[in-house]
Amino acid sequence: MSEDSIHAGGCLCGAIRYEVSGLALQTSFCHCEDCRKASGAPAAAWTFFPPDSLRWTKGAPRKVCFAERIRFFCGDCGSPLLFVDPALPEFTEVNTCSLDHPENFPPVDQCWMADALPWMSSLGELPRFDSTSPPPQPER
Ligand SMILES: [Zn+2]
Ligand SMILES: [Zn+2]
Repeated sequence: MSEDSIHAGGCLCGAIRYEVSGLALQTSFCHCEDCRKASGAPAAAWTFFPPDSLRWTKGAPRKVCFAERIRFFCGDCGSPLLFVDPALPEFTEVNTCSLDHPENFPPVDQCWMADALPWMSSLGELPRFDSTSPPPQPER
């Protein structure tokens, strides 16, 4: 899943940085409504580590408790960073895309498919552009 080493991550604005060490325990791609709202994205990728493997190296994240779970985010730029479920104390779930190298942590499953947006399954059929998509055409 990943080599045994230190993986750095942080938020968009750079105010918060962290490191996680060791092997990831699990990776998953979550379609639940809570992850969608918290991330502003159609789904959230997660990488699970043991809680003692995490170290904040810059700044202090803000936390929000919702549905008895704690989500950590940057109080300046709002980037989601981490998730802790007190019912599952053996895991700290890192927002995979807050890691500097999310490409090293591909999801191995998708969860909460019951909540998945119906258009997620047809993304592969959409036109693709290497960078910005063309601007919308004005109506004539
Ligand atoms: Zn930030
Ligand atoms: Zn979720």
